[in-house]
Amino acid sequence: MDKITDKGLVKNCSYIDGQWHTSDKRFSVTNPATGETIAQVANASVNDAEQAVIAAHKTFASWSGQTANHRAKLLRNWLNLIIEHQDDLARLLTLEQGKPLAEARGEIGYGAGFIEWFAEEAKRVYGETIPAASQDKRLLVLKQPVGVVSAITPWNFPNAMITRKAAAALAAGCTFIVKPAEMTPLSALALAELAERAGIPAGVFNVVVSDDAVNIGKVLTQHPQIAKFTFTGSTQVGKKLAAQCALGVKKVSLELGGNAPFIVFDDADIDAAVKGAIASKYRNAGQTCICTNRIFVQRNVVEKFTKQYSMAVAELAVGNGLDVDTQIGPLISSQAAEKVKQLVDSSVAQGANIALGGDFSNAGACFYQPTILTEVSNTMPVAQNEIFGPVSAIIPFDSEAEVIEAANDTEYGLAAYFYARDIGRIWRVSEGLAFGMVGVNDSAISNVAAPFGGVKQSGYGREGSRHGLDDYLVIKYLSMGI
Ligand code: ADP
Repeated sequence: MDKITDKGLVKNCSYIDGQWHTSDKRFSVTNPATGETIAQVANASVNDAEQAVIAAHKTFASWSGQTANHRAKLLRNWLNLIIEHQDDLARLLTLEQGKPLAEARGEIGYGAGFIEWFAEEAKRVYGETIPAASQDKRLLVLKQPVGVVSAITPWNFPNAMITRKAAAALAAGCTFIVKPAEMTPLSALALAELAERAGIPAGVFNVVVSDDAVNIGKVLTQHPQIAKFTFTGSTQVGKKLAAQCALGVKKVSLELGGNAPFIVFDDADIDAAVKGAIASKYRNAGQTCICTNRIFVQRNVVEKFTKQYSMAVAELAVGNGLDVDTQIGPLISSQAAEKVKQLVDSSVAQGANIALGGDFSNAGACFYQPTILTEVSNTMPVAQNEIFGPVSAIIPFDSEAEVIEAANDTEYGLAAYFYARDIGRIWRVSEGLAFGMVGVNDSAISNVAAPFGGVKQSGYGREGSRHGLDDYLVIKYLSMGI
């Protein structure tokens, strides 16, 4: 915390209706790299969450009544302040989440990009006119903001998962309440401080921090004044929250878990595939929902790929994210590291071979070694579950049809990647993979201009791109007699 230059960014309580709400009850925020407590944060109550909803509801009429240009101006102020404080925000993020500082800086830039994108995009929310069936009528379609939006966000992107939702909501004219993950509330509160400095009016952007996710979650999914709920997190929790929203027929978007296949065909550029696999597997120590989970390699190139890949992964530097050389930081908690160990151990018991790593790292209680398992089959625990850790599972395959079937043999459908050169194969595989996003000879698919989202039990709705605003808008049809 000492090196954060603007101490005003370090907040320890909820931001509701433009006020900082403290409380006697507190919970601790821990640095996963060291185990040190870095902050004691005031624990918001159910009543605080309700106050946030009431404030957002009260403010909705004035905020949605502004022009898109006016809202864009305020969003731009927010964006500029975020970029101005990028270093401080990145350091705060690494302290509470653990990812390497360079990745944290990248996340702040990526997160800010959504604010820029939606501030611009909301100026282009076009309606329609429809040719009427009779001469005495005119038919029109308006797009209007849905109303008060609530959000629950995860710890793996403590900044960008909030801006990706809030920027679209605010730009569209909605007011917003977010409950960030209890492990990473500080990045969310710093965003609130900067929103206030940017002149975003009280009640428009509210942050409720609490470790009572269940009860705050009930308010954010069931309060009658909330029109829309948006969630990023696990499939298990997302299903529960969607069911809670169903009672009030709220509009819902869900970005849930993934089990991304990464397929290397025998005509692939193997050097590019190795680089791509490392980038998509080891970002954030394997803790993103679009991280590669299963690496399928065609049998006649499996030896070549595995050798090159193992040499490159062995070079990855593990350590505290604040050290400039670190490429792999800690996992979010020691329980998360334990879960990864269990997935590896149970897969080894079923015949997987450890080619690299395979145990906890001595860097600290939350660290696991960058690991490669070979001779994995698609039915092993490491292939069936979202690993969320620095473990690569290499599965050999023979034919195109076989690998498409195996890749799709999961309840998830978020991201998939494949490397190939044959144009016919590229089309067939792109169309055959049952995933919302497919990287073709590309592993860095996230981009503010592109629609992020999944199919099957990875959720519904899209974030970013021109489609991202739709989740925050409703269509109203006018039939006018003249
Ligand atoms: P992860 O596996 O990324 O921790 P979770 O789905 O457990 O994913 O958590 C994502 C977000 O959901 C966090 O903000 C967490 O506090 C919240 N959360 C977890 N369980 C519940 C619940 N039962 N009700 C509401 N929110 C929850």
